[in-house]
Amino acid sequence: MNHSTETPSSTLHADRVHEDVERVVVPSAAIAARVRALAQSIGEDYAHADGRLTVVPVMTGSFLFAADLVRALPQRRMRIQLATVASYGGTATATQGSSIVGTLPKHLEDHHVLIIDDILDSGGTLRLLRAEFESRGARSVKACVLLRKRIPSALSTPVEYVGFDIDDEFVVGYGLDYDDLYRNLPYVGALRREAR
Ligand code: 5GP
Ligand code: MG
Repeated sequence: MNHSTETPSSTLHADRVHEDVERVVVPSAAIAARVRALAQSIGEDYAHADGRLTVVPVMTGSFLFAADLVRALPQRRMRIQLATVASYGGTATATQGSSIVGTLPKHLEDHHVLIIDDILDSGGTLRLLRAEFESRGARSVKACVLLRKRIPSALSTPVEYVGFDIDDEFVVGYGLDYDDLYRNLPYVGALRREAR
């Protein structure tokens, strides 16, 4: 059998869709391919920073994306330090401003910081974290998001690496939640109204 002409996204691992999900927005196979491409360019851009890169996954939404992304990066010395930022509380689906919970990574002098977040919406989270890390003396601060909404607030927020631009709708899966549910779904999908 010859597999070489098969289109992975259509013939391999079509996602089984949870009943609370209206529609798949980004299939798991597309996420996997995009993660590899992002890791390739991030790996090239930070080739000079061996031992001086601090990767900061923003909890909790980026936990799967960050886990997949760092394992796809070239194997170099890098620190991984989690940051927790609260934006939507619980079941709210509109942005309410962000605040840092707990402590942020310290000792950033001479380190290049790469923030990893799940989705860019109002831009509040990235603005807040960037300012914090810059004021803590990071040598550079860049950000990588899996998703960016096609809305002015998101499109006008500086971000160096973007996985996918999506329409302005509330999505869950691959780390993103509704009241901490659905983070385990392997794809990104739009939640049914009835499930909220
Ligand atoms: P920003 O600070 O850019 O407004 O928002 C970023 C945070 O808001 C994300 O890390 C995520 O936690 C939450 N968020 C924004 N849009 C969505 C969405 O469509 N679905 C989910 N589950 N969370 C979202
Ligand atoms: Mg978040």
